[in-house]
Amino acid sequence: MKGDEGMRSNHTLYVVIPCYKEEEVLPETARRMREKMRALMDAGRISPASRVMFVNDGSKDRTWEIIAELHRQAPDLFSGVNLSRNRGHQNALLAGLMTAVNDADMIISMDADLQDDINAMDGMIDAYHNGYDVVYGVRSSRTTDTFFKRFTAEGFYKLMKALGVDIVFNHADYRLMSKRAVEGLAEFREVNLFLRGIVPQIGYRWTTVEYARAERFAGESKYPLKKMLAFAFDGITSFSVKPMRLILNVGAVVFIVSLFMLLYAFISKLTGHANAGWTSLMGSIWLIGGIQLLALGVVGEYIGKIYAETKQRPRFIIEEVLNKPGEKDAGNP
Ligand code: UDP
Ligand code: MG
Repeated sequence: MKGDEGMRSNHTLYVVIPCYKEEEVLPETARRMREKMRALMDAGRISPASRVMFVNDGSKDRTWEIIAELHRQAPDLFSGVNLSRNRGHQNALLAGLMTAVNDADMIISMDADLQDDINAMDGMIDAYHNGYDVVYGVRSSRTTDTFFKRFTAEGFYKLMKALGVDIVFNHADYRLMSKRAVEGLAEFREVNLFLRGIVPQIGYRWTTVEYARAERFAGESKYPLKKMLAFAFDGITSFSVKPMRLILNVGAVVFIVSLFMLLYAFISKLTGHANAGWTSLMGSIWLIGGIQLLALGVVGEYIGKIYAETKQRPRFIIEEVLNKPGEKDAGNP
């Protein structure tokens, strides 16, 4: 038995699954997770202390009853976190991560609806054992998505990139994070959560694992278009001040154009081509407009700074310290 010991991992995995009105899929999700976790434990890839942690995001249906029942039947496999009210996917996920990090060495976050391929977990855990702190699940294809969902989602990733936001293409929130990566995440204090944007900022060694995204097992999407748009808007405004800078640039352009317009209006007046009152009218419209946009842009710059400050994001997360403290009083008086 002793020879076996070295092969077995004593690293504890928590799988965090946010659930909002998922009574239809939960029993099946739990069944598949139980199988998967048992297989991983038997193979010695994760410790027996590993758990599946369901986070109930203020569902009005039987979601929490099901979670509580799962925990009652198998407390050494299923855990539950119940939020006081619906706070949205991202907040529910964060609540789970922050609860799990106390006991876990690695955490995988996953949707409840079985769209994320459970078998991709193996690759993630392998990567973790190979020293990666963050492993992003990336969709290899979107063939199961409707044309509309695919078009809007991929457009969104491209827009984010264009706005200078560092996100992983076609990665949703199916990912593995090591304990220290989640602890790093805890340092980000912002209220408008867009985890896909924050996680890359934590740093550490990362890699990706590809998987084919399936269709929702049961029930319907909890992300209707309205929520999707709000989420996309949140993502952009939380990570980019480019929209604000755009106002400044437009203001500058309008201001310069207004100078030419003024010149043109004066020349028209001097050469006698202008109607009475036209010159001053043109001048004031363009000049005032330009100055206003410019001023708005400058104010925007400052608001951008205040905005960044109020988030109190960590300025750094230290990965490793090499330091041998000097010996005190080694022969010195
Ligand atoms: N979810 C949540 N709170 C919400 C909305 C969604 O916890 O307010 C969860 C939901 O239960 C699921 C995950 O977030 O586990 C992703 O939602 P969904 O599958 O409906 O989104 P889609 O895959 O359609 O984008
Ligand atoms: Mg889904």
